[in-house]
Amino acid sequence: MNQESSVNISIPKLPETLNGLCEIALNLWWTWNPRGKNLFKQLNPYLWKESGHNPIAMLKKISPEALEAAGKNASFLREYSYVYALFKDYINDKNIYSKEELSPIAYFCAEYGLHHTVPIYSGGLGFLAGDILKESSDMGLPMVGIGFMYPEGYVRQIIGADGWQNGTTEPIEQDVAPIERVLDEKGNHFTIQVPFIDPPVYASIWKVNVGRVTLYLLDTDIEQNDPWDRQISSRLYTSDINQRLRQQIVLGIGGYRVLEKLGIEYSILHLNEGYPAFALFERVRSCIEDENLTLEEAISRVKKTSIFTTHTPLQAGTDVHSFDMISKNFQDYWQRLGMDKETFMSFGLNPDDPNAGFNMTVFGLKMCDNRNAVSKKHSEVAQKIWKNILPETSKEQPAIDYVTNGVHLSTWAGDEFIEILEHTLGNRWMMMQDDPDLWGYIEDIDDEVIWNISYGGKVRMVNFIRERVRRKWSDEGIDPVVAMAEGVMLDPDVLTIGFARRMTEYKRPALILHDLDRLEKIVNNYARPVQIVFSGKAHPSDITGKKILQHIFKTAQDPRFRGRIAFIEDYSENVAKHLVRGVDVWLNNPLIPMEACGTSGMKAALNGVLHLSVMDGWWPEGSNGKNGWTFGSEPSDDAEDAASLYDTIENEIVPLYYDVRENGISHGWIDKMKESMMSISPRFSARRMMKEYMRKFYVPISKELLTEEKSESTAASSAVRPEPLQ
Ligand SMILES: *Cc1c(COP(=O)(O)O)cnc(C)c1O
Repeated sequence: MNQESSVNISIPKLPETLNGLCEIALNLWWTWNPRGKNLFKQLNPYLWKESGHNPIAMLKKISPEALEAAGKNASFLREYSYVYALFKDYINDKNIYSKEELSPIAYFCAEYGLHHTVPIYSGGLGFLAGDILKESSDMGLPMVGIGFMYPEGYVRQIIGADGWQNGTTEPIEQDVAPIERVLDEKGNHFTIQVPFIDPPVYASIWKVNVGRVTLYLLDTDIEQNDPWDRQISSRLYTSDINQRLRQQIVLGIGGYRVLEKLGIEYSILHLNEGYPAFALFERVRSCIEDENLTLEEAISRVKKTSIFTTHTPLQAGTDVHSFDMISKNFQDYWQRLGMDKETFMSFGLNPDDPNAGFNMTVFGLKMCDNRNAVSKKHSEVAQKIWKNILPETSKEQPAIDYVTNGVHLSTWAGDEFIEILEHTLGNRWMMMQDDPDLWGYIEDIDDEVIWNISYGGKVRMVNFIRERVRRKWSDEGIDPVVAMAEGVMLDPDVLTIGFARRMTEYKRPALILHDLDRLEKIVNNYARPVQIVFSGKAHPSDITGKKILQHIFKTAQDPRFRGRIAFIEDYSENVAKHLVRGVDVWLNNPLIPMEACGTSGMKAALNGVLHLSVMDGWWPEGSNGKNGWTFGSEPSDDAEDAASLYDTIENEIVPLYYDVRENGISHGWIDKMKESMMSISPRFSARRMMKEYMRKFYVPISKELLTEEKSESTAASSAVRPEPLQ
């Protein structure tokens, strides 16, 4: 199978001297390379902004004359040649793990947060998956990603004057998204039939270039399918459980088929949560049918070479399918595997609730010997809630180990910080970004420099927010009260607290509104005011979440808060980037222990934003007493936690921020920022995370596979073994 892909995008003919621009635009590499970004901006700053930082959309809009002129402009050409050389150097870098060192990895996830031009994410799980692909590309890990193309995306949030979230779909603009069709030999869009679904369902395959890593996306919205089936992949996380099951079959079993059909070699299967877990069954089948293993051997091979990452701290947070539905879809399948119904069902059976049905998380945990949670605390919680299905746990061999999440540094750190880090830590700092010793040199940066970068981030955030509201105002003629609540009155000179997360009950988005009288005193303090910026979507069927959002929005409209509380509509990757670089304090107050990890606080910390959090998720590992503030009680209690939050803001945060000395700078605040960057950035980087995945899972599995392969080849077995799992 050739893997040629075609650009589904007709970019006007580029001048010959600029031929590489299209190639750069079609690889997300530019999104995490400051000079890559700047190149497009330089081409036409106005269109760059208008296009929403989408190089393909911009190249389609720009006039041929302007392109022609750029192709002759010496200074643009020089920068273009440099960036193109950087890009080619990155893509062709030979610094890549060989098969003898590391077996190729197939990474499966239902969503990926990569860039706002590819809206196939809803939140944290997706951004983790996106950062894993980016970091794997940077490190040269042999990885491919499998996911879904959701033509309707997730939800675009529109908030009415009454504060109620109305969602519309957020269609992927296929003609300007950095997504390419994969073509078959005849030049048609490459399409697979999802095995074992009757009547048949087909999926076409797209690909996204994430640096050196390829992400393949399955799309069922194609003519070959019935209307009902076309909708399988139409949107992310539908609440219809039957449709979810079909999505899971397409993603797991269909995704596996994509790898097979494209001839993509891999031998380690990494599943991010239960959504794609059916890939495990498909792998068992392929071991039996293609490699002549017995059922037991196949299961044991799959268990040894697969990794399951769990993200939920609650049994209730998992997908459970009725036995009937499973029977309906898998009857032929288990026969083909040589299993009886009972054995098949037993893999998804939760002994704590045996009649509930087939549980996808239970299935993943049982079928993978390699399991991990996403923080230390979450590993303890997960082992407790799943203790009835897990093997014995010990200190050396925890049944659910942990790899605490990290964030992709060059995606989330602001360009200005990256520049000063490069200047201070030396040009090899990116290579050594997870080394805490290196970061000690942050101490040497002049306080004023840090203050200015951080203030600049705040100004950019405020401008960004105002510009969005201005557009909404001019496009839709919104109610002035809505414009006010959406942040037009924010002031960059005011201490700013940010809270941007999914609007869902356990995250307690409205905790800081618990006592409005007390909050009013804090916000409206005459000499030392405080402003709060909220953002986040509620799941379309989460009524409680929508009510919380409405409460926040109405509070933002309340004149007594004088425009100092704002709710930013339609939280996305782009909004997140502005907020984590623009606020002073990042607030995190979930019900303990519901936040398995949380990553937005890490993104903020990279930018010198101080963390204000309850002791949950990654914070017990991240806090050292000096790099942020901890508040609240355990077990969580709203009234107590709110009081403790107000105390911390009033007694510690406000006085420190406004302890302004010469040059208008609070040196105490900067000391804390430095402490936070030094202690958090290296440890919660995606680099550290991927190294841990390697040390705990990828490398040991690879070693075992290699030993097996060697012993088999010395035994000179004559059995035909078409392509071992490699
Ligand atoms: C990082 C990120 C998240 C996840 O943040 P949490 O801290 O896990 O809530 C969600 N949405 C966006 C847009 C993000 O950038």
